[in-house]
Amino acid sequence: MATIIDGKAISNEIRKEIKNEAVEFIAANGIVPGLAVVIVGTDPSSQVYVRNKKRACEEVGFYSEVIELPECTTMDELKAVVKKLNADPKIHGILVQSPLPGQLDEFEIVLLIDPKKDVDAFNPYNTGLIMIGKYDFVPCTPAGVMELLGRSGVSVCGKECVVVGRSNIVGKPMAQLLLEANGTVTVCHSKTKNLGEVCRRADILVSAVGIPGLIKADMVKPGAVVIDVGTTRLDNGKLAGDVAFDEVKNVASFITPVPGGVGPMTITMLLKNTLTAAKKNIAH
Ligand code: NAP
Repeated sequence: MATIIDGKAISNEIRKEIKNEAVEFIAANGIVPGLAVVIVGTDPSSQVYVRNKKRACEEVGFYSEVIELPECTTMDELKAVVKKLNADPKIHGILVQSPLPGQLDEFEIVLLIDPKKDVDAFNPYNTGLIMIGKYDFVPCTPAGVMELLGRSGVSVCGKECVVVGRSNIVGKPMAQLLLEANGTVTVCHSKTKNLGEVCRRADILVSAVGIPGLIKADMVKPGAVVIDVGTTRLDNGKLAGDVAFDEVKNVASFITPVPGGVGPMTITMLLKNTLTAAKKNIAH
C-alpha cells in the first residue's frame, strides 16, 4: 500500500517558509513582493483561481492586484495593461490568467511580459533558461511536483522517469526538471505506442493528460512513485485525476491524490516565484 503524498500539508509547510522569508525581505529592504493577476472575461473557474491567488498572496504578506477586464477587451487594451504592469515598481510578478477570449493572442501577450516579472515562466526567454539549467522561474506545476518528490524523500538521480503529456506548461518543463535532477526521462503523448509498456518501465511516473483513469494498476511497476497532475471536473462536480487511484495505490510506493496532491502546490510555487522576482529586482 503506497504512502499518500499530502500536497496540502507540504504546500502549507512551504507557504510558512515563504511567509517567514517575506517578513525578513520586507524588513531588510522595505520592499513588499507584489503580484498582479490579469483576468479577462467572466469564466467561473478562472475567477476562482484568481481569487485563490489573491488570498494566497495576502496570507504570506505580499501585495496583490487583480485587474479585471471585460470579455470584449482588445489586444491593444490588454497590451497596454501589461506594459503598465511591466513598468510598475510595486509589481514583481505578472500573470495573465488563461484561457483568454478568442480575439486575444495568448502567445503575443506572453512575449510582452517582462521576463523578470514572468512568474509563470511561460515567456520563451525563461523557457530557454530552463533548457540550459540557468533559470530563476520554473512553471509552477512542474516546480510543485519536484518539491513534492524532494520533500517526500524521493531521489530522482538515476531513476527511470516517464512523463505522460507534453504540453508547454506541464509535460515539457516537467521532463526538463527530471532530466536536470539526473533522471532518465521518457516523454509520452497521444501518439505514443504501447503506453502501458512504457509506463511500466518507470520508477517515477508523472501523468499530466486530463483523462480520468488513464493510468491503471497494470501500467505501474510495483514500487513506483506515481504523481498525478491531471485534474478533470466530472459531471457530478468532483475532481478526477489521470490515475485510477484505488487500484494504483496498491502497486505504487508513493502516490499523490486528486484533489490534495499536486493541485495545492501550483499557487505555492507562484508565491515562491514572486518572492524570487522581488529579490532579483533588488539585485539588479
Ligand atoms: P494539455 O495541454 O491538454 O496536454 C495534454 C497532453 O496529454 C498532451 O501532450 C497530449 O498529447 C497528451 N495526451 C492526450 N491524450 C493522451 C493519451 N491517450 N495518452 C497519452 N497522452 C495523451 O494539458 P495540460 O495543460 O498539460 O494539463 C494536463 C492535465 O493537468 C489537465 O488535466 C489539467 O487540468 C491538469 N493541470 C493541473 C494543474 C494543477 O495545478 N494540478 C496545473 C496544470 C494542469 P498530444 O501532445 O499528442 O496532444
